[in-house]
Amino acid sequence: MSEGLLTGGDTTPVVSVQRAVKDYPGGVRALREVSLDVRPGELVAIVGPSGSGKSTLLHLMGTLDTPSSGRVLIRGHDVARLPDRQLAAVRARWIGFVFQQFFLTAHLTALDNVATGLLYHGVSPRRRRELARAALERVGLGHRLHHLPNQLSGGEKQRVAIARAVVGDPPLLLADEPTGNLDSVAGAGVLELLTDLNRDGTAVVVITHDLEVAAALPRRLEIRDGRIHADTGVPA
Ligand code: ADP
Repeated sequence: MSEGLLTGGDTTPVVSVQRAVKDYPGGVRALREVSLDVRPGELVAIVGPSGSGKSTLLHLMGTLDTPSSGRVLIRGHDVARLPDRQLAAVRARWIGFVFQQFFLTAHLTALDNVATGLLYHGVSPRRRRELARAALERVGLGHRLHHLPNQLSGGEKQRVAIARAVVGDPPLLLADEPTGNLDSVAGAGVLELLTDLNRDGTAVVVITHDLEVAAALPRRLEIRDGRIHADTGVPA
C-alpha cells in the first residue's frame, strides 16, 4: 500500500529499545537498562521465568507503556517525542498486538471483529470489510466470516485476533503468550501462522513459555530479572 512513504526501504530497526528501565509503583524494577533492536522481517522469541519482565518489555515495544528512563524508537521515531495523535497513529498502523486472552468483541462476527483493526486507517467501512475478509482467508478462516466468537474454538478465536492484528499490514507484530490458552495442536497452528506471516515480511516478537518453540525460532532473547540474559541473534 503506502509503505514506501513509511519505510524508506532501509534497515532502520522497526523497534529499538535503548537502555530502558521500568519501575512500577511499589518499588518494583521490572526492567534494568534493556537495549535491543528488532530489524524489519525478524522473528524473535522472548523467553524467561514468570515475573522476569517479558510482558513489560513487550508493552514498551508496543508503546502501550513508557519507560521510566531510556528510549523506545519505532522506525526511528522516539515515542516520547511524538504528539499523542501521532503516537496513536504509529500504534494503530505500525504495530499489531496479539494477547493470550483473545479480546474479541462478543457481539461482533469474526469479520467485524477483524474490521475493527482498521478503524484508524481512514478506509471506508466497505473496504474495511473487504480487507477483513482477505485477512481471515489468510489465517485460514475464510469459512468462519460470520461466526460469533462463542461459535469458534480457542484456536480459531486466536486466528481471528491475529487477522485483526495484521489486517492493516503492520511492519511489527507483538504477541504475548499467544498460545497460552490453547491446546498443543491449536498452539502449534498459531505459531505456524505467525511464522508464515513473518515469512511474508512482518517482524514478529513473540513471548512464549515453550522452550521447544523458542529454540526453533531464528532469534531467542532470554530475559532474567529484568535484564537480557542471552540473545542468540544480535545482528553484526
Ligand atoms: P513476565 O511477563 O516475565 O511474567 P512482567 O513484565 O509481567 O513479567 O512483570 C515483571 C515484574 O513487574 C514482576 O515483578 C511483576 O510483578 C511486576 N509488575 C508487572 N506489572 C506491574 C504493574 N502494573 N504494577 C506493579 N508491578 C508490576
